[in-house]
Amino acid sequence: MIDPFGRHISYLRVSVTDRCDFRCVYCMAEDMTFLPKAEVLSLEELERLCSAFVRRGVKKLRLTGGEPLVRKNVMSLFRGLGRHLDSGALEELTLTTNGSQLAKYARELAAIGVKRVNVSMDTLDRDLFRQLTRWGDLDQVMRGLDAAQDAGLQIKINAVALRGVNDHEFGDMIRWSHGRGMDLVLIEVMPLGEIGDQARLEQYLPLSLARANIAREFTLTDSDYRTGGPARYFRVEETGGRLGFITPLTHNFCESCNRVRLTCTGTLYMCLGQEDAADLRAPLRASESDDVLDRAITEAIARKPKGHDFIIDRRHSAPAVPRHMSVTGG
Ligand code: SAM
Ligand code: SF4
Repeated sequence: MIDPFGRHISYLRVSVTDRCDFRCVYCMAEDMTFLPKAEVLSLEELERLCSAFVRRGVKKLRLTGGEPLVRKNVMSLFRGLGRHLDSGALEELTLTTNGSQLAKYARELAAIGVKRVNVSMDTLDRDLFRQLTRWGDLDQVMRGLDAAQDAGLQIKINAVALRGVNDHEFGDMIRWSHGRGMDLVLIEVMPLGEIGDQARLEQYLPLSLARANIAREFTLTDSDYRTGGPARYFRVEETGGRLGFITPLTHNFCESCNRVRLTCTGTLYMCLGQEDAADLRAPLRASESDDVLDRAITEAIARKPKGHDFIIDRRHSAPAVPRHMSVTGG
């Protein structure tokens, strides 16, 4: 699949549920209204949709959410999609998770063929972790990380950089993650969904600043390591580990975008930061054969926009789009 700007679309992210067992302050409001269950695609329908994308050339599939591991029976979806790994049609099946259920599922994920997981963790401080996630328990996530490593999964820790909140901990997080053989990636907070304008403005920390601070303590050497996502990586000479930066605001990376995102209702967003979307649920349900669906996918890819227009400053603190990250999938 090639979009109008000549970009090869080979990566699909799927939000398998908009629900979550955490309520991270930058991601969700405390009193979220979730989708009625009737609107959500069944796991069989999600598998059929994902398989259509694999047939069309998607090589990398990431399940996310919401929290993907709180969806009932989600392992049956992983198992179904794992078949595309066995056939060689799919190169990578992976997930982004808050880690709360990893202790339960790590072994099975590894057996299905998952090799790497992204685990979101913004702090090593128990109390701050509870404040940031509102409902999360750091020890439970730590047990999840242990189980994932025991099962042989490679781990990348994702931390959203929050000004005045966790920026004093980056040095500790680098030492801790690299000490355990895990990559660390820092992410700029994006203006997605209503959480209160003032809150967003207060949270935003340009990673150019964070990087300059980190470089006072560590030697960062440019690296051409890539995972198919938007992170730019450095090698930290003191630890020998990898540190990535995802900078949608300070350094736009849309020109190399290879991704589209599917929600759990079958809506395809061709860009995380734009409103335009294509409904794939109706074409999916219209016929047993995939012809109608294939046409809808082709039309959607032909509309992929050039990029997002994220800005956070005093005049632009409202969301760029009203959807929360948990809807489109991070
Ligand atoms: N629940 C899973 C988790 O937390 O990893 C998967 C879904 S979560 C929406 C995916 C990623 O998006 C997480 O790393 C989270 O920190 C990040 N995220 C959520 N809201 C964000 C925002 N407004 N700006 C930047 N990253 C955000
Ligand atoms: Fe849930 Fe992940 Fe959003 Fe946190 S970032 S509320 S864990 S979906």
